[in-house]
Amino acid sequence: MDKQRIGILGGTFDPPHIGHLMMAQEAVEQCKLDKVWFMPSASPPHKKMNGVTAGNDRIEMVKRTIDDVEGFKLSLIEFEREGPSYTVDTMKELKEKHPDIEFFFIIGGDSVEALHTWDRIDQLVEIITFIGIKRPGHEFESPYLDKIIAIETPLIGISSTMLRERFRHNKNTKYYVTDEVREYVEVNRLYDKR
Ligand code: ATP
Repeated sequence: MDKQRIGILGGTFDPPHIGHLMMAQEAVEQCKLDKVWFMPSASPPHKKMNGVTAGNDRIEMVKRTIDDVEGFKLSLIEFEREGPSYTVDTMKELKEKHPDIEFFFIIGGDSVEALHTWDRIDQLVEIITFIGIKRPGHEFESPYLDKIIAIETPLIGISSTMLRERFRHNKNTKYYVTDEVREYVEVNRLYDKR
C-alpha cells in the first residue's frame, strides 16, 4: 500500500491567517498530499519568545482556523516536548512514531531562503522533503534547491506581523483571518498592547 502523504505546516501562527490556509491547500493540490498538519511552534528558535503570544492562545486560534476544514489537522507535538522546538528533532520523532507516513514540510519563500540558518539542516533535508511556496516568476536562491519541491502560487502579501499591527490599531482584518479567530483576538484583547 502507498504511504500516506502528510504535509507539515510549522509556524508561530501569531495569528494564523489566510496566507497559511492558501499555502496548505496549494500544497495539497499540487503535491497530492492526503492531509496537512498545522504544527504550532512551542518555542520558535528563530524568534524571541519574548512577545510571542502564549501557546494556548495560538493553539486555540489554529483550531479556529482549520476547524471545519476536511484534511487539515492540528499537531501539538512541539508542545509535548521540553525545550526549544527544533524542526529536525520534531521530524525525527514524527518519523519514528509514524513509519507508515511520508512527511513533507511546507515553507514560504522567505523561509526557503533562510534554510541554511536552520539547526542541523543537512540532517533535516535527508529525512524529509521540503515544499517551497514560490511566487510566479521568482527563482529561489538556496544551496538546498535539489531538496525542495517548488510550487508556484500567487503571492498574498499578508503576514502575522501585519495582522498584529492591524488588530492593535483597530484596522480591518475581515477576510484576512477567519471570523472565529477575529472574535477570539478581540474578546481576549491579544494584540492591544503589542
Ligand atoms: P510573522 O509575520 O510573525 O513572521 P508569518 O506570517 O510569516 O509570521 P509564521 O507562522 O511565522 O507566519 O509562518 C509559517 C510559515 O508560513 C512560514 O514558512 C512562512 O514563510 C509562511 N507564510 C506566512 N505567510 C505567508 C504568505 N502570505 N504567503 C506564503 N507563505 C507564508
